[in-house]
Amino acid sequence: MHQKLPKDIDPFRLAQNGLRLEGTLPVSTMKRLAGSLSDTEGEVAVKMNFDVDETGLPYMYGKFSSKLSMICERCMTPMSVDVDVECYLAILKNERKVEGLAELYDPWIVEKNDPILLSSVVEDELILGLPLVPRHEHACLPKEAWYRGDDIDESEKEKKVSPFEVLASLKLKK
Ligand SMILES: [Zn+2]
Repeated sequence: MHQKLPKDIDPFRLAQNGLRLEGTLPVSTMKRLAGSLSDTEGEVAVKMNFDVDETGLPYMYGKFSSKLSMICERCMTPMSVDVDVECYLAILKNERKVEGLAELYDPWIVEKNDPILLSSVVEDELILGLPLVPRHEHACLPKEAWYRGDDIDESEKEKKVSPFEVLASLKLKK
């Protein structure tokens, strides 16, 4: 699938015509995304459906999938992360229209008729879809090396207050 996607798009016109775009983009073209990655090999599969909903609102439904390389924060080696993002973006002329937007949509502000770089929309959504703390699913380091409460589950457990701590804090208040 090496269909050519247009570089620039006019989201309003695409929505009015109910057009679909499908193709791939090289990850290496996305400089902002690249800052979070350990390398920029690979491609992003892009699907965009433009349409106007029953309230007359132009929107884009997007589905972007890629295998991205990030550094595991536990063992500091590269790992592959599957990123699949789906989004409904309401195409708006200005921020005033954001209020009252149906919950389904995220706003996509398109000023005037400036052409929009297609890849930047895909890039924004992929950045939002990246894991905050990339880690291998398996225990990639010996347990004693990372079993120090820095795991999410462990820190949750630590928040539980023991009865002794409650007593201690009561004493302090006196
Ligand atoms: Zn790891």
